[in-house]
Amino acid sequence: MTLRARFAPSPTGYLHIGGARTALYSWLYARKHGGQFVLRIEDTDLERSSVESVNAILEGMTWLGLEYDEGPFYQTDRFDRYKEVIKQLLDEGKAYKCYCSREELDALREQQMANKEKPRYNGLCREGAEARAGVEPVIRFRNPTEGAVVIDDMIKGKVVIKNCELDDLIIARSDGTPTYNLTVVVDDLDMGITHVVRGDDHLNNTPRQINILAAMGAKPPHYAHVPMILGEDGKRLSKRHGAVSVISYRDAGFLPEALINYLVRLGWSHGDQELFSLEELIELFDVADVNRAASTFNPDKLLWINQQYIINSEPEHILHHLSPHLGNIGLDPTEGPNIIEVIKAQRERAKTLVELAKVCEFYYHDFSDFPEKPAKKAFKGDANLVLESIKNKLSALPEWNRTAIHQQMEAVVAEMEIGFGKVGMPLRLAVTGGNPSPDLDLTIELVGREATLRRIDQAIAHINK
Ligand code: GLU
Repeated sequence: MTLRARFAPSPTGYLHIGGARTALYSWLYARKHGGQFVLRIEDTDLERSSVESVNAILEGMTWLGLEYDEGPFYQTDRFDRYKEVIKQLLDEGKAYKCYCSREELDALREQQMANKEKPRYNGLCREGAEARAGVEPVIRFRNPTEGAVVIDDMIKGKVVIKNCELDDLIIARSDGTPTYNLTVVVDDLDMGITHVVRGDDHLNNTPRQINILAAMGAKPPHYAHVPMILGEDGKRLSKRHGAVSVISYRDAGFLPEALINYLVRLGWSHGDQELFSLEELIELFDVADVNRAASTFNPDKLLWINQQYIINSEPEHILHHLSPHLGNIGLDPTEGPNIIEVIKAQRERAKTLVELAKVCEFYYHDFSDFPEKPAKKAFKGDANLVLESIKNKLSALPEWNRTAIHQQMEAVVAEMEIGFGKVGMPLRLAVTGGNPSPDLDLTIELVGREATLRRIDQAIAHINK
């Protein structure tokens, strides 16, 4: 039998870090076992669901590379099927109509709270209720009253819940629309889901879902409830902790594989290894090895991982993800030096693609001024003479490459009988405007002859002023 896993987000907001990690675990598990991964959009809450959220979720999944084999399925397309199941459960006496009013249920709850009891439905309509004129009933599932539900959770281990602790859950509202636990059960069954990987905030729904499945004559899937992600203050990760949407990480200059790598490690490990290729993850990851305890989100670690990926990925791949960030600062890399060479030269100087775009900029755009403090230091003494001399030599160079450029710097050192720093410092500031840069000869080669000479002139003018 093929393994079938799924991700079933409710489109009531963007794809957040926690949801993405759950999706990733489910996806990896499916890939590991040569199974299928299904995407299901749980949009039955018409008031809170939106098309924008659906799009944001799909965008996030695509960016992360979590491609699905089936879907997206939309629960709103399946109302007829849910109605059919509800009717069948009613016909078989496995569900019943309940006419209790909101006021009655509120009073019941208050009384139970006052008695320090767990608030739950008392089963008043369970043995047959009289229809009330003008009242559309809700439909409740007839939960077993005896025995217990045993969940053999792949992460949490064995979880046992006594049926006497569960009440008769509403499966259809009075307007006939199905509720979450009913739709999930019907979908997981119809879609042949064998493994449900989801957040452990759903663990208390699982015994109810298993009971409904049993009433439908079906065997439950395997469950893996993933512990939550906490912020550094120990509270559940949320907007309060800063960026939590996957797309905001894209926009902040993270590579998708860096975020994947970070998310997988957040709650799972393989010895001390920090960096994993996707192939390695598919081979090594197992849902059963996910930590039982919650994990804490660490933005610095994520930055470090991103930096490692920027340093080690193929430059062409980096360019693909860097392009929008170059666009954001108005940089068109076709006008100027080869961007691949610039990426190679600068990638160790950036933790994000936003920073990388910034440190690439001076290769393409001139700057209007020099930073004050470094200028005071680098442009003192005979700096203008040094710059004149190197300018003359560079402008006469027959070939523009770093070796030839370096020879000219050495020539100035010898002719003027000064240390290399006396040439390098003013020249570097002149050409880079104080931006972080690699070896000076390489920097100058990449900036190109015209821009280099123009910038040396600008520096000389600055000194003479
Ligand atoms: N739609 C639910 C949510 O977004 C998930 C349901 C499930 O995975 O069973 O929280």
